[in-house]
Amino acid sequence: MSVVYDIAKKVASMWSLIVGLRVTTKNFFQPQVTVHYPRQSVDNLSTFRGHIELVGQPKDPATPRCITCMLCATVCPSQCISITKAKAPPPEPAKKLPDHAEGPLVPPEKAEPPKAKVIKTPGSFELNFNTCSLCGMCVQNCPVSSLRFSTDVYAAGFSRQEFEYDLMARLRLQAAVLGVAASQVNSPACEDTLERVDPEKYRLAKGPLTQADAVTKGKRGQAA
Ligand code: SF4
Ligand code: SF4
Repeated sequence: MSVVYDIAKKVASMWSLIVGLRVTTKNFFQPQVTVHYPRQSVDNLSTFRGHIELVGQPKDPATPRCITCMLCATVCPSQCISITKAKAPPPEPAKKLPDHAEGPLVPPEKAEPPKAKVIKTPGSFELNFNTCSLCGMCVQNCPVSSLRFSTDVYAAGFSRQEFEYDLMARLRLQAAVLGVAASQVNSPACEDTLERVDPEKYRLAKGPLTQADAVTKGKRGQAA
C-alpha cells in the first residue's frame, strides 16, 4: 500500500512540474511586454500618472493658465501644494489733465487714488511630491484645467529635497525646450525627462546662452 502511495505522490509531483513547464513555454513565445530599460523606453505614456505639473497658456506656454484660486491647495488631502500670488505692479500715477481740458476740474487731493491691477498669476507654485498620493483631486477640481499629470517616469533621487518641485520653473523649462522663453530657465527640478525629450534644446535652454546659440534657437523656434 505504501508503494502505491509513493508512486501516486511522485506522479502528482511530476504532473505539477509538467503544468509549470507548460505555462512557462506558453509565455515564452508571447509578445514581449517589458522593455530593456535604460536602453529602451516605452513610447505610450498616455495613461501614466506622474507627479502633477502646470499647463501653459496656448499663446504663452511659459505662463500657466492658473488664476490662483487656491482650490487645488485647499482640496489636496496631503497639503503638498504651496502657491503664492504674483505681486501686482505699483499703480500708475494719475494723469495730469491738459490745460485746455473741458469739464469740472477735480483738485488732486480729492481725486480717487488709482486702482491697483489685480494679478491672477502665481508668483510661485511648489509641489512636495514626497507626500503626494496622486489622488488627482487637484487636477479634477482646477476650474481652468491648469493642472495635469506629468509623464515623468524618471522621477528618482537620493534625498527628499529632490522631490520638492518648483512647477513654475518646470513649466518655463518645458517652454524653453519647446523653443520659448529660454532666458527664464533656472530650476534644477524634474529635468531628466526634458533632457531626454531633446538633449540639444535642453542644453540651449539650460546653459548660458551664447549669441550664436540664441540665434540658432530663435530660428528653430520659428521653424517649429
Ligand atoms: S494628486 Fe492629490 S495628493 Fe497629489 S497634489 Fe494633487 S490633490 Fe494633493
Ligand atoms: S492650478 Fe487651478 S485650482 Fe490650483 S490655484 Fe491655479 S487655477 Fe486654482
